[in-house]
Amino acid sequence: MNSNKKITLIIFSMVTLLTLIIVALVAIGSRESGYNSAKKRAYLTADIVKNALTSHMVNGNMHQRDTFLNSLERLRELNELWVVRSPKVSEQFGTHSTNEVPRDAVDEEVLKTGKEKVVINETVEQANLRITIPYTASSLDKPNCLACHDAKEGEVLGAISLTFDIQEDRLSSIAILLNIIAIVIVFLIFFLIFISRKIKPYTSSFDSITNILKQVHEGNYAVRAQEGILKEDKEAFMWLNEIIEKLETVLTGIERNLTAFVHNRASNVNNDKLLTAKEIIEDISEIYNYKKTIETDLTKDDIYYRLIQVFKDKLKIKTFYIFEDDLQKDERKIIYAPKDKKACCDVRKDIKEFCRAQRTNNVITSETFPEVCRLANCESCEAEYTCIPFNINDQKSVTIHILCEDKDCIKHNKYQIGIIKKYLEETKPILESRILMDVLRERNLVDGLTGLYNRKYLDEFVDRTMPNELAQGTTYAVMFLDIDYFKMVNDTYGHDAGDAILQRLAKTMKEFVTNDEFIVRFGGEEFLIIMKNPTVETAKELAQRINVEFGKIIFNFNNESFSKTVSIGYAFFPTDTDQFWKCIKYADLCLYQAKETGRNKVIRFTKDVLKNGDKEKY
Ligand code: GH3
Ligand code: MG
Ligand code: MG
Repeated sequence: MNSNKKITLIIFSMVTLLTLIIVALVAIGSRESGYNSAKKRAYLTADIVKNALTSHMVNGNMHQRDTFLNSLERLRELNELWVVRSPKVSEQFGTHSTNEVPRDAVDEEVLKTGKEKVVINETVEQANLRITIPYTASSLDKPNCLACHDAKEGEVLGAISLTFDIQEDRLSSIAILLNIIAIVIVFLIFFLIFISRKIKPYTSSFDSITNILKQVHEGNYAVRAQEGILKEDKEAFMWLNEIIEKLETVLTGIERNLTAFVHNRASNVNNDKLLTAKEIIEDISEIYNYKKTIETDLTKDDIYYRLIQVFKDKLKIKTFYIFEDDLQKDERKIIYAPKDKKACCDVRKDIKEFCRAQRTNNVITSETFPEVCRLANCESCEAEYTCIPFNINDQKSVTIHILCEDKDCIKHNKYQIGIIKKYLEETKPILESRILMDVLRERNLVDGLTGLYNRKYLDEFVDRTMPNELAQGTTYAVMFLDIDYFKMVNDTYGHDAGDAILQRLAKTMKEFVTNDEFIVRFGGEEFLIIMKNPTVETAKELAQRINVEFGKIIFNFNNESFSKTVSIGYAFFPTDTDQFWKCIKYADLCLYQAKETGRNKVIRFTKDVLKNGDKEKY
């Protein structure tokens, strides 16, 4: 209902109520005045009758009083009139006729109490007022009542009952009331039409403003107020339009600039520019805090840890993997994996060829095209996947692999892609600098000839990384490798040939180790392989494989072909000893035994490898 109708209805209700009250008061008043005028006539008649009866009595023609009384009954509106005598008067003067005895209880009551009584008898068709007025003895009356009546002062001598027809009064009151009502209704109609017309411009302006504000509140900033009729309206509408326009300009600007900043994330969720701006600003503030925090992180691992926290806690991404892709080695390393969910993708090598996201440098999602990535195996994981690639530099790239099992999750994650990218973008320079630091550090820790870690790396690993890993329950195997009769190569074919063989052994070892193992050039032609969480079988298998595969290689130098062998000793830490360096020593002892017993062998540490004294202490 619009304001005009509301206000008109309120005025109508109030005026109607007022009219009803007035009509009711007039009705009550006119009824009362009808009764009062009837009563007045009754008193007058009663006085006339009393005086007339007294005159009759004084003149001694009391017997003719009926003629007088009957003549009164012909008066207009007087229906009936009768006089009753009190028992005392009847006793003194006798009964004139049966007419003068009390006719009903009202007569008797008035004779008894000496108080007048009024009885109103109203029906729809007729209205009567009956009044019974007592005549009391008074010495003050002229002539003196007590002169003739054998009565005391104030004693009831008789009463007169009169019945008036007040129907005519009532009808005229009703007619007056109907006239009033008719006038009021006509007045009310004109009044309402007039009021309605007068207030319409104001109410329609009000409605228009309300409607516009409602639309603005719902996020529609394109709406504008149309000019009203009133002069005051024009100004108000102009200000309103200016405010909305300003809001629209500012919010569109915020949306355009900031949405680009956070990759159109929030605008996908909300249609209201104001709320969108709020969300974008919140996003930016969180991203800023994130950036400030990772700037002070020392290592790449710390930065990845923060990124994982952001994905989990802020972006509410439940199941995801973070892969770090080495673009030069074309290998993939898992930085983060959820405990309870297998990835759709298990590509670890030849990333540039097989990872569709990395190859195309585009976000890949199975929702847009089923089995979009032919290597993703979603039958086993029963989930939709989204892969977001992100290049850190020429050497490293990050791939976020998100898994979803239901539509809500897909929808939620879809809107997070923009902000994920923004977080990755902010991470990029800092991660890049940490990677660069790692590279520099690694160069100092890597052997130039073979590209394997050097002894310094092993020292750092033992000091920094190993304590944490041991605390998490990691176990190790240490393999000691030495080329058999290597000196002979140098002596026969020259130092370069020796170098080439060392590089070839390094390559062979790299082919068979996984991300859980690393190789160290321990000395001249001595190497260590450190395995994480090995079993007796996996350690033995790796050692034997390297031994066999290296032995198969045919070298050609100085037009001569030959093969070389490698001897390997290995021990387990902390199974065989609780000291890591001792474990290396035990592996070296095994190697020594392999050399002693014919070379080209793999020997696992046992107590028997130890010399007598050590064996007893073991
Ligand atoms: P064994 O079977 O007992 O191991 O006999 P071997 O001849 O291999 O004896 P040893 O292990 O003592 O030989 C080590 C040789 O490795 C000595 C050294 O000339 C050579 N060597 C050490 N570092 C390098 C290197 O960087 N390049 C080359 N070409 N040779 C190296
Ligand atoms: Mg040696
Ligand atoms: Mg040797």
